[in-house]
Parts: sequence; structure tokens; C-alpha cells
Amino acid sequence: MHEERSRSTPPASAQAAASGVAVAAAEGSWVVTRDGRRLLDLTGGMGSCVLGHGHPEVVAAATRQLGALAQTGGVFDHAPQHRLAERLAGIAPAGLDRFAFATSGTEAVELALRLARLATGRDPVICFRGGFHGRTEGSARVTSAVRVPGVPGAGARVVVAPFPRPGPAEVPDDRAPAALAALDRLLARCGLPAAVVVEPVQGLGGCHPAGPRFLAGLRERCDARGSLLVLDEVQTGLGRTGDWFAAQAYEVRPDILCLAKGLGGGLPISAVGAPAWLWERAGAPVRAGTFGGSPPSCAAATAVIDVIDRDGLRARARSLGAVAARLLAGVAALRPWARARGLGLMAGLELQGGDGRPDEGRAEVVRRRCLALGVVVAQAGGVLRLLPPLTIEEDELCHGIATLGHALAAVESRSDRLAHAA
Ligand code: PLP
Repeated sequence: MHEERSRSTPPASAQAAASGVAVAAAEGSWVVTRDGRRLLDLTGGMGSCVLGHGHPEVVAAATRQLGALAQTGGVFDHAPQHRLAERLAGIAPAGLDRFAFATSGTEAVELALRLARLATGRDPVICFRGGFHGRTEGSARVTSAVRVPGVPGAGARVVVAPFPRPGPAEVPDDRAPAALAALDRLLARCGLPAAVVVEPVQGLGGCHPAGPRFLAGLRERCDARGSLLVLDEVQTGLGRTGDWFAAQAYEVRPDILCLAKGLGGGLPISAVGAPAWLWERAGAPVRAGTFGGSPPSCAAATAVIDVIDRDGLRARARSLGAVAARLLAGVAALRPWARARGLGLMAGLELQGGDGRPDEGRAEVVRRRCLALGVVVAQAGGVLRLLPPLTIEEDELCHGIATLGHALAAVESRSDRLAHAA
């Protein structure tokens, strides 16, 4: 009777799973499906398992803290939060010396926008085409990589500006002047912005690096107007791009920094960093929610930073990133409709259709083929994305990208091959 009912009723969980695969366990760069298959997970929990799944030192730190003091609900102050804030202040770009904590990337962006509006007393926010900042109301309004169902468009307080999109044989810096000129035209109409919010490398928008010239141009424009530059490093932060933060790789100084994903090494925690004077100018008490900066998540995050530091994982992200870039460029070189790009261990392969635009259908077929061959890659429209742990072995990474190459070859159409041969 019960069996019959469970077969005929839909599952009670409304949660979506991007890969469509159910897993039961995971370790390092691998996941084990419910039916016992081992898959190489090049998504690294969509960038959040920066030390791989179940890193022993992260597990130990979180477990110890869970037993000692699990939660305070924002009622009590606690040492793990202070330890983490101090550790973050030590690795963050200069001047960011105070941190507030929440649980997810979207909350960090909400908090950053609130902070910017309170500190400046202004309303407008500039964001960029192809940007992704989260799925709650405020962050979704500055998001354009996807349309978040149920959230109205940008609205009056948000201005969406172009982001550099290099053509073939160009780098992002080549497109920075045009994107900045378009921004200047928008700025002339929108009044003084509270903030400019930008990802140093767009993730869900298709793994597009902003490049140093564009970010330097944003810094200049913020300085000229007294606006605050918010760098959303939810995905790029914590060593992924080869520095602690992409701000350091691109030598740009943010006023506000948003972190999440890799910070907790798998546990839910996010952070917003800003100079103390900015928090003070905002005046209002900083509260993200009941679970913001829970003791076990703070302990896990401190362990993540310690391990990245001790094990030289930023240098490792740079060297493995170079390996990934070379292998992906090799895959793309054989195919005029494929293009590789990225920064550090944040890599993308764009697959285009006959019209030269990213082809979501083609990427979906390749992603599924990879899955059938035992390798999980992420997808953003027509772009396949790799966000592996910084701890991935070089041979695992090479195997994953070789599999991606095989998957591409297997789904290439006859006309693709003829076009290539011509
Ligand atoms: N900002 C960026 C750059 C992201 O990549 C994401 C998530 O992918 C978010 C914000 C939202 O983070 P979360 O999914 O933890 O809310």
C-alpha cells in the first residue's frame, strides 16, 4: 500500500539537481552515485569544495566545533567568528579589515548592496550584462546571466552595463575601452551610483574574465563619483584564480568584497569584507540572519584558509590552471566552433552553433556524454565549466579534460568535421 503510494506520488523534495544524478558519498575529487558508480567531479560542488569533498582537516575542525558550540543564533559573540575575521583581514586586499558573516553567496551580495546604500545614502547600483549574483530578490535584480523566475527585472534602482566580451584572437582588455565608454554614457543618465557590483570573472555568465583594464576603469569611475566598488568573489575567491582573491591577480582595490562557496570548504558560510569606517558610516547593525557565521562553519573556514596557505594551493591553482588552459586550448584548436578561456582553476569551453553564438543544446549533449563517460562538468548555457578542487591531482584533471575531448569528438556532426577539414 505504502509502496504503491510512493510510486504514484511525485517526490516530496522540490530541490533541483543540475546533473540529474543522485549521489550517496564523496571524497576528494570523486563522488559515488546511489548505484555505486564513481564519477570525477570537475564541478567541485559548483566551486564550493575548494579542498575537495570531505577534506579531513575541515571535517575535524567543523566536528570539534559542532560538539563544543554549534550555534548562537546571533545572540552571543563567539571566538571562531573572531578568528575567521582576523584570518580574512590578513589575506584580503589592503584596507578590508572588518567582516560580517552570512550563510550563502546571495546573502553576502544582499548585505553588500545594503551596506553600500546605507554608507552612501544613494540608491542606484550598476551591474553588468552576463553577471550572476544570486537568486534572492536583491541579488537577482543585479543578475542578468539567467532570469530568476518570480523576480521582476532589474528595476529603476539598477542599471545594467556591458561587460567586455572579446572576439576571436582578442583578450578582455581589447574590449575594455568600448565597455567603459558605454558605461560612461549610462552613468551620465543614472545619477550618482551607490555601488558598482562586478564579478572579476563572470561564472554563470560563461566563464568570462573581466581583465585588469576594465576593472581599473571601474575603480577610476567609482573614485570620481564617490561610489563603492563591490567585487563579487563568491566564485573567484579563496585561491581559485591563483591568488587569494582575483582582486589581487588583477591589482584592483575593492571597497566591498563578497565571499562564499570555497570559504566553508563545503559548509555554508559567506562573508562581506569592507573597511571599518564604511561599516561605521552605514550605522545600522549588521545582521544577515540566524545562521550567519555559525561556529562550525567559521571553524571550517579557518581550516580551509590554513590548508590553502600551508599546502601552497594558490600556486597549485596557477600551475594546474595553466595545464587546464593548455589542454582546453588543444581541444578548441581542432574545432573552429569551440573556444577556451578562464583564470586559474576556473576554466570554460564555449561551444558555438552555426550562427557563432554559444549553443546550449550542443553543450548539453556534450555534458551528458561526459557524464556517461564518468566525468561531471558544469554547464552555463553554451559553455562547459570546470571548477575542480585546488587539491585535484594533475592526472585526474588531465583525465577529465581528455574525456571532455572524447565526448566532443563523439558528438561532432559530419558537417562539423567537414568544416574542420576544409
Ligand atoms: N555570486 C556569484 C559570483 C556566484 O557564482 C554565485 C553562485 O553561483 C552567487 C553569487 C550566489 O551564491 P549562492 O548560490 O551561495 O547564493
